[in-house]
Amino acid sequence: MREVHHFVAGAGSKGLGRKFADVFNPNTGEVAARVNLAGKAEVAAVVEDAHRAFQGWSNTPAPRRAQVMFAFRDLLRKNMDELAALLAAEHGKVLLDAKGELTRGLEVVEFACGIPQLLKGEYSEDVASGMDVFSLRQPLGVVAGITPFNFPAMVPMWMFPVAVACGNTFVLKPSEKDPSVPIRLAQMMIEAGAPPGVLNVVNGDKEAVDTLLTHPLVRAISFVGSTDIARHVYSTATAHGKRVQAMGGAKNHMIVMPDADLDQAADALMGAGYGSAGERCMAISVAVPVGAKTAEALRARLIPRVQALRVGLSTSTDADFGPLVTRQHLDKVRGYVDIGVAEGAELVVDGRDIKMQGYENGFFMGGCLFDRVTPEMRIYQEEIFGPVLSMVRAEDFETALRLPSEHAFGNGVAIFTRDGDTARDFTRRVDVGMVGVNVPIPVPVAFHSFGGWKASAFGDMNQYGPEGVRFFTKLKTVTARWPTGIRSGADFFIPTLK
Ligand code: NAD
Repeated sequence: MREVHHFVAGAGSKGLGRKFADVFNPNTGEVAARVNLAGKAEVAAVVEDAHRAFQGWSNTPAPRRAQVMFAFRDLLRKNMDELAALLAAEHGKVLLDAKGELTRGLEVVEFACGIPQLLKGEYSEDVASGMDVFSLRQPLGVVAGITPFNFPAMVPMWMFPVAVACGNTFVLKPSEKDPSVPIRLAQMMIEAGAPPGVLNVVNGDKEAVDTLLTHPLVRAISFVGSTDIARHVYSTATAHGKRVQAMGGAKNHMIVMPDADLDQAADALMGAGYGSAGERCMAISVAVPVGAKTAEALRARLIPRVQALRVGLSTSTDADFGPLVTRQHLDKVRGYVDIGVAEGAELVVDGRDIKMQGYENGFFMGGCLFDRVTPEMRIYQEEIFGPVLSMVRAEDFETALRLPSEHAFGNGVAIFTRDGDTARDFTRRVDVGMVGVNVPIPVPVAFHSFGGWKASAFGDMNQYGPEGVRFFTKLKTVTARWPTGIRSGADFFIPTLK
């Protein structure tokens, strides 16, 4: 059986190899590999190793660090097919989607290539006689990333390219459900010229995570995963004096106004609701048609589209989406559909029981569509994270605006309309962190920053982009007086401009 271990100090490491978890092939349902889960002492050793590497790396000039990122970018492009195949095989998303994920990660690497420019500080000349002030951003030390199963390449690449380019050394604890791609990324960083210890990957479960959250040498934690764990990560790591950004779950709404192009809106809902089997934190899981006429017209367009969804193997080149990640997750998603039916929502398309011929034990599920979902229902309040779209009918714009604004989650939201006034009013007033106007999945490009609000994110700074640079650096401000010959005598009061 294939085993996945750790990547530490520039090489593969088996650690103590005491605990393992199964990694599945979601197409067949079979165990494809087992992943080594590090214990407390093993994680601590990795952190200490990263700490030793910090001295040299943080003193490497930023343009040289950028060269490593340029070389890493070239390797990513060169190895895209191999990485996509590995990713799809463990996650279950189809190859084209896996390549899309890698491309979004690569864009952050390209952003990190500009690190000398991004780290430029500010300078104020002659703030007092002979006195200048300048500011600079310095790396924090060892920083850690803890990432979810649904983007095993992109989410780690939201974090480590920026962190490492800033001069930190990085310990990545990826999801134990699809751990192979992160190991390959770390190998490629070495190939790109990163010194050993700059990027480490340690596989593990709660024990490994909790060690990172409490270890005194870890200066910052970047987490992406479900809300309950994000809350735990935020409270534990901040209590241990660390800087923390912890992104959680989501329930993203798409408002469809009566003036919207309904075919365009329906197509957008298909990709955003069912792409990657709905296992995306920015998936649209709630469609909100405004007005009864819009609801009927949208429903009429959605039903045939959902029925026509092509579910296939992750290796397929013509499937819309593949299997879910594990049997456990499939059961959970199916369970939510059962709950929705019991709660009185109208299940207009039921994809619970599709079977793939020859792959009867795979974790497949077809698209499901609910209509007449209401805010009291659990299927509205909780994140399902599967190919299930709920329609919540709103009688007017104000009701539609209130739904995402009053929801516990606040990751993404979209509005489809042809009316600029409505779009502007919506974007200004909606209580959600990332907003799309006629764009269903408004994941910001790499030179902006990603982050939701409310129960979708804890901490103050967003992922990647300029916020990522701020998160992974600390500001130092220097006040200097030249020439030293200027004397004003002892001053016992707080200095003011003279
Ligand atoms: P998860 O919370 O189960 O796992 C995330 C990470 O936390 C993994 O590395 C896992 O090993 C670790 N972990 C799990 N249980 C833990 C525990 N009890 N204590 C400490 N660590 C623990 O999430 P997942 O199922 O892998 O990913 C899906 C979730 O991630 C969804 O809720 C999705 O919305 C969310 N997500 C959010 C964003 C975002 O940016 N907001 C992006 C992607 C995914």
